[in-house]
Amino acid sequence: MSPVIETDEHQALRSAVAALGAHYGRDYLAKVVAEQRHPTELWYEAAKLGYLGVNLPEEYGGGGGGIAELAIVLEELGAAGCPLLMLVVSPAICGTVIARFGTPAQKRRWLPGLADGTRTMAFGITEPDAGSNSHRITTTARRDGEEWVLTGRKVFVSGVDIADATLIVGRTEDARTGRLKPCLFIVPRDTPGFGRCPIDMELSAAEKQFELTLDEVRLPADALVGDEDAGLLQLFAGLNPERVMTAAFAIGMGRFALSRAVAYACDRTVFKQPIGAHQAIAHPLAQAHIDLELARLMTQKAAYLYDSGDDVAAGEAANMAKYAAAEACVKAVDQAVHTLGGNGLTREFGLASLVTASRVARIAPVSREMILNYVSHQTLGLPKSY
Ligand SMILES: Cc1cc2nc3c(=O)[nH]c(=O)nc-3n(C[C@H](O)[C@H](O)[C@H](O)COP(=O)(O)OP(=O)(O)OC[C@H]3O[C@@H](n4cnc5c(N)ncnc54)[C@H](O)[C@@H]3O)c2cc1C
Repeated sequence: MSPVIETDEHQALRSAVAALGAHYGRDYLAKVVAEQRHPTELWYEAAKLGYLGVNLPEEYGGGGGGIAELAIVLEELGAAGCPLLMLVVSPAICGTVIARFGTPAQKRRWLPGLADGTRTMAFGITEPDAGSNSHRITTTARRDGEEWVLTGRKVFVSGVDIADATLIVGRTEDARTGRLKPCLFIVPRDTPGFGRCPIDMELSAAEKQFELTLDEVRLPADALVGDEDAGLLQLFAGLNPERVMTAAFAIGMGRFALSRAVAYACDRTVFKQPIGAHQAIAHPLAQAHIDLELARLMTQKAAYLYDSGDDVAAGEAANMAKYAAAEACVKAVDQAVHTLGGNGLTREFGLASLVTASRVARIAPVSREMILNYVSHQTLGLPKSY
């Protein structure tokens, strides 16, 4: 199979998820956000149809597919105006890491619930003092007999309130070198010492972001995911799917905004023709469509490489896909809002809030500049400034 052409199964999945998305749509999500709750009905219906765990192994109740399929699910829900952000963290990062590196007991404990949607897991790596420089994270795990004791802080972690646990990236001391190395720990939501405080975001979304404090959080030995010495490999196994999924999230949002703008531009007439007949309106929309299609092509390539087991090539492609999709999304949303004139800023038409939302994909999980740094150094071999 060509890495960039979707199979019949993929296309069937796309249409089926699009139908589910159309059933809920933007109005449903807007209502959920206004009521300050979570899109539980959509979450469980998507789970029942097998979409949430489509990438997880069949023996644990998943669909046996890969990140390509999960990205299709997120993109199509986004294109319908009702994306599920927790797909990026729960099945994509946490599910993948546990499926690939978890112990048999961790797989049995977590994967069936992540696949059928009854359990959710958040993911916490960002720290206030480290930011984009994840080498500087200081959340530290020390051994105390059979237990681990975690201390540190995290920021901007999504969905901790609804997640049964958070996969926390910490560090342990290397017995040989004394240097700190990354390690992943499953921290159940109500563990003593695990505090969370919501961040007041200017984002219209169902999922909240949290600042976390880990104050001598005691965890059993089996809270450590996989192998203490393979933390870095395991971490990247989760970060690449996160980038692919963020790209899918951005493409979905861009498509949603574009479709609203096209419908408006065909309908709204202020001179003789509908505004969409003016090339000043039509061409930027056509460009936005082309950019989104190109970004999708790169996202498909990244997903294909990841699902084929080529982690190194997937890393580069996933970064590029995330970059391209975020830029395409920001531009599509901007042009869509502009196309609607004053209505672009009304609540009724629901596009203005996407201006903020689209910026998320440019910042998280890795910023536009850090991807440009990565490509400058890793791909092009240019020297580093930092
Ligand atoms: C809505 C939302 C949800 C999120 N969810 C999660 C989550 O679930 N889990 C989680 O762990 N994190 C999450 N994050 C955090 C996100 O991953 C970080 O915000 C992101 O990694 C950037 O880190 P920072 O905010 O500290 O920015 P900083 O690192 O402080 O960067 C600020 C600016 O400086 C630029 N910059 C920094 N260094 C360089 C450099 N060397 N060269 C050029 N430019 C540079 C950056 O590109 C950026 O524009 C979320 C963030 C948001 C906004």
